[in-house]
Amino acid sequence: MLSYPDFYINGAWVAPTLARPCEVIDPSTEEPCAVISLGDAPDTNAAVAAAKAALPGWSATPPAERLAAVTRILAEYRRRQPDMARAISLEMGAPMDMAFDDQAEAGAYHIENFITAFKDVTFLRPLGDHAPGSMIALEPVGVVGLITPWNWPMNQVTLKAIPALLAGCTVVLKPSEVAPLSSLVFAEIVHAVGLPAGVFNLVNGDGVGVGMQLSTHPDVEMISFTGSTRAGIAISKAAAETLKKVTLELGGKGANIVFADAGAEAVKRGVRSCFYNSGQSCNAPTRMLVERSFYDEAVEIARETAEATQVATAHSPGTHIGPVVSEVQFSKIQGLIEKGIAEGARLVAGGPGRPEGLNRGYFIRPTVFADVTPDMSVVREEIFGPVLSMMPFDSEEEALALANDTIYGLTNYVQSADGARRNRLARLLKSGMVEMNGMRRGAGAPFGGVKASGRAREGGHWGIEEFLDVKSISGWDGAA
Ligand code: NAD
Repeated sequence: MLSYPDFYINGAWVAPTLARPCEVIDPSTEEPCAVISLGDAPDTNAAVAAAKAALPGWSATPPAERLAAVTRILAEYRRRQPDMARAISLEMGAPMDMAFDDQAEAGAYHIENFITAFKDVTFLRPLGDHAPGSMIALEPVGVVGLITPWNWPMNQVTLKAIPALLAGCTVVLKPSEVAPLSSLVFAEIVHAVGLPAGVFNLVNGDGVGVGMQLSTHPDVEMISFTGSTRAGIAISKAAAETLKKVTLELGGKGANIVFADAGAEAVKRGVRSCFYNSGQSCNAPTRMLVERSFYDEAVEIARETAEATQVATAHSPGTHIGPVVSEVQFSKIQGLIEKGIAEGARLVAGGPGRPEGLNRGYFIRPTVFADVTPDMSVVREEIFGPVLSMMPFDSEEEALALANDTIYGLTNYVQSADGARRNRLARLLKSGMVEMNGMRRGAGAPFGGVKASGRAREGGHWGIEEFLDVKSISGWDGAA
């Protein structure tokens, strides 16, 4: 079994002050595959102290030097990408091909995009011709706590650590205790690159321990969090005592509005996208709303697509989906599938229990519910498993009202051949992102939501600016 007892503090791997071992479970086998340590207040304090001590030096480095450091991180990340993919696959169950091509690749992709976006960030500029002597300066927020989830581990770590470092902040990362292995590889990458001691620190731990210690620490200026809405609320409350800046990327319940003119391919794409990463994406299109004239056909296409979705161990190559991450998630998803049936949704594919032939591992049957109604639990709650809910609509207005009838507002989707209709809906949907006709967000586009999905923006220059304070200066001597 792999063993990673140490934390990365002040440029070195150090033993925890109290040995609190925590097993990492391989979701494909339900067996422990690694052991880490859960940190405590002395570990958190040591990491924050190291970050605080490193802040004056790092924040004063010329931006070009920070850019050069991140460029070295990218090169080392690329070199270690197979290790990164193996770690992610093992810790959270992404099948090997997907772990390499998508999960690990997402990290490199974000680093590349930040390198591009950073070239457009101006740290000192005039306010405008109307106000001579007035300047706008952007300055690093300070010591930042980064708290990340297990579902897209390196996607999340790079979306936080890289822009924070570019901005001139120093950081303490607390990855998910469920999937900590990839972050340990990330710390090795940062170490190999040779950043000044204390600029980047990692302490493993759980939410109530290290997560809360960071959220309440007087020397931490900001928490950047991705995870559940529940934890986001707890962190916001805890951080209020020390008036920290808190940025939150939370859950979602994306609607996918499919008009009859979109055709069969749009339905197949929507189902696959819902099941992608075994349904464990905050931006998954989990509510498919279909124009009534196309509804019965769409339900049939969804059934076929679900039944054609292979489920298997993360350790074999292929395009199948893997298990969900943990016993907790497995039980929660099974409970919601049972609830869907009990509340009267029509089960079209999948259902409770494991897929045939899989008796061990947190495997879920790709499930489709039809004829759901807005009050049902499967429509209201974020399931975070391969479970799709379908319902018909009669008009564009009704589709819009159904799509917006949720506490969440992360990504919504529209499928239609009618461009004017797509543009109209894109402006009226209440979400931070709208993706239409299968077109992905462009490189460097901001990722984030509204309402209970949180209001942070990650990626591109928006993602870097989250880690910068704006200073307004007047009386500036332009000739000095
Ligand atoms: P989680 O909230 O349980 O845990 C996320 C992280 O927060 C972990 O590191 C955990 O240890 C920590 N944590 C938990 N409780 C805490 C507390 N009280 N104080 C401080 N830290 C705490 O979420 P999860 O189960 O790991 O991830 C799944 C959730 O994350 C889903 O709801 C999903 O939608 C959401 N998510 C959102 C985005 C986004 O960008 N919007 C991206 C990925 C995941």
